[in-house]
Amino acid sequence: MIIVANWKAYVESEEKAKSLLALAKRLSKQPRTRIVLAPPSPYLGLLAKGNKTKVEFAAQDLSDTSGGAETGEVSAQALAGLGIKYVILGHSERRARGETLEQIALKMQHAVAHGLSPILCIGEKERDAGAAYLLLLRQQLASALEPLSQAERMKVVIAYEPVWAIGGTATDSPQDVHEMALYIRKILSDFLPGTANARIPVLYGGSVEPENIRPLAGGSGLDGFLVGHASIDSKMFSDLVKALV
Ligand code: PEP
Repeated sequence: MIIVANWKAYVESEEKAKSLLALAKRLSKQPRTRIVLAPPSPYLGLLAKGNKTKVEFAAQDLSDTSGGAETGEVSAQALAGLGIKYVILGHSERRARGETLEQIALKMQHAVAHGLSPILCIGEKERDAGAAYLLLLRQQLASALEPLSQAERMKVVIAYEPVWAIGGTATDSPQDVHEMALYIRKILSDFLPGTANARIPVLYGGSVEPENIRPLAGGSGLDGFLVGHASIDSKMFSDLVKALV
């Protein structure tokens, strides 16, 4: 199971970042558990540099250009140089700030070109009765995967995150999550025929907490979770990871 801890901008001190890393190091000793920390960028460099532990790191975004005169941007090359393995792309909080499908597709290409694995977030704002959300999810996946070669697609991790379930206010039912995971696998099979798509990790995110992680994980075909607010509370994060064993 992969647990991606998306610290968003919640963590605002070096002390807090270091104590969460120490906790992640202890928890990553559990069997069958891979912890990926996604700190805000100042702490990402600080914690990831020279990391020799089982804990892995993700950036929360990257530039859709390859560096140069781009004030405020962070290039894929700069991240890869620090030994960072993953980058969260297409998060709904970035899409809400105007990030387009085209920009996400470009970011995907920059990421894989520099050996980073994109954690591609997809998710609907609402589950409408007409099921337009199913088409939206297909479009979010297709626009990001189409420009990539088969080999590059194999580096992608998918995080299904219904936007309405993010932030601790609403939760999805395990049955719906399991059905959506199947639907996503079905779409992936169009882009990675044969058995290849089964090797793409599919994660779920949206108010995952210690109380609901087990039912969500059980028999779902999910490969892990993307965790927001519960990842910066030491007790919640520890209980959540331990609940998976
Ligand atoms: C997220 O924003 O990726 C997320 C899963 O947040 P939360 O766990 O707080 O719903």
